[in-house]
Amino acid sequence: MKQGEIEKSLMQAMAEFEIVDAHEHLGPERDRLAAAVDVFTLFSHYTRGDLAVAGMSAEDYQSLSDQNIPLEQRWAIFAPYWQHIGWGSYARAALLAAERFYGVEDINDETYVPLSEAMRAANKPGIYERVLGEACKIRTALTQPLTPVPPVDLGTPRLTSVMRDPLMSSVETYDDIFHPAIEPGATVNSLDDLLDVKRRFVARVKAEGAVGLKMMCYPCESPSRKDALEVFERMRGGGMTLPIPNPLREYVTNEIIEFAGQQGLVIAVHAGYWGDFRKLTPTNLIPLLLRYPRIRFDLYHLGYPYVREALMIGKGFPNAWLNLCWTHIISQRFATDALDEAIDLIPMNKILAFGGDYALPVEKVYGHLVMARENIARVLAGRIARGQMTETQALDLAHRWFWDNPKELYGLKL
Ligand SMILES: [Zn+2]
Repeated sequence: MKQGEIEKSLMQAMAEFEIVDAHEHLGPERDRLAAAVDVFTLFSHYTRGDLAVAGMSAEDYQSLSDQNIPLEQRWAIFAPYWQHIGWGSYARAALLAAERFYGVEDINDETYVPLSEAMRAANKPGIYERVLGEACKIRTALTQPLTPVPPVDLGTPRLTSVMRDPLMSSVETYDDIFHPAIEPGATVNSLDDLLDVKRRFVARVKAEGAVGLKMMCYPCESPSRKDALEVFERMRGGGMTLPIPNPLREYVTNEIIEFAGQQGLVIAVHAGYWGDFRKLTPTNLIPLLLRYPRIRFDLYHLGYPYVREALMIGKGFPNAWLNLCWTHIISQRFATDALDEAIDLIPMNKILAFGGDYALPVEKVYGHLVMARENIARVLAGRIARGQMTETQALDLAHRWFWDNPKELYGLKL
């Protein structure tokens, strides 16, 4: 069989898999139903970055979701930029979603109106079930809504909480400490009060069903209580904005990781690509991996662009897993190359195949999933064609990445 035919056969077999989606930002379905949707909903997530880089102003981007402006007028703003971003991996997920759910083969001058009408008509209860359940066969998606939602409020077993702790992302001002998602009305007069509040938060979300805690991969080399105390007291004086990273975040994050690990939660780690990505290199995780050998860390996105560093972490640390969430839509080429290299390097129980990484445009989870299957099929078909494995062995690996590994890492009872 030619490699292309093997790929096709693997794609078909993988489409029958029931899977765990290892990372989303989906909120409860009611949030999606409350949104006014149209063609631009499909461009409301990562494509936003591509539009900005292509030259679209922030005001023009905001206007795309302004329902007071006629659709035709918004399309006229968008169309010139669509020419520039339409060949990227982010755009491809939108195109695949438009075709699968709304029967539109291309998004263009002729189709944006009927596509918008079809999206409005389909935005009704059951849309998550139709997309996540029927189209994607996702048993459950590990999700961190962009605005934190208590795990008990997610509203469907198709979603499982990996809680985002706002302070583990950043703490810049004194007010950040009082983020309402942590504990409304909490009294925090000291650093120890803050740690108490945060431990209560972790225990509460765990009791409500969260299986992990999410952090950003800022440095955590040498957390110091003394330095954290000093910064905390200076912040209390008011008006102070901390840089990212800073000693308070470093100390608090370290303490919370230790506590969350004791609770059996997985620590999910965003590494690489985001804003000034130099601060988020996956190598920042190494001190934590060494300090907490019993805590399980789920390293996201292969740390793009620090791919070799992330692969080497997967190679060298028993407590690190590599999660290919977001990767297939960053670049299919990079994801394919990295996965092929990962098979050479890393034990096969440590790779998680897929996480859509979307919030409002749930349909794009499907587009991303198709791209993930394509990448995996390409890599495995190459190995089959070279006589390194059989099709049965290849599908066994893919099944472990899509199902067994995320299930085991997060202790999911499915
Ligand atoms: Zn994400």
